[in-house]
Amino acid sequence: MRFRILLLPLLILILSGFDTPVNLDANTVYLCMGKGSKKYHYRKNCRGLSNCSTKIHEVTLAKAKEMGRTLCGWED
Ligand SMILES: [Zn+2]
Repeated sequence: MRFRILLLPLLILILSGFDTPVNLDANTVYLCMGKGSKKYHYRKNCRGLSNCSTKIHEVTLAKAKEMGRTLCGWED
């Protein structure tokens, strides 16, 4: 019974997130493969990726961390 009470606000939270530009699939991040790039990005249209001169790669968050990447400063 207690579980049901907790489930409803969680469901509302998930549903309300659908119209935001943030990538809800938290396991997918974007990397710029340029020489100086050490960051990963949640959004493909991130400001930090806009000046990337090379192809943008899509990898899992675990893979990005494995590569020593840290979260981009433009992400909130
Ligand atoms: Zn970014």
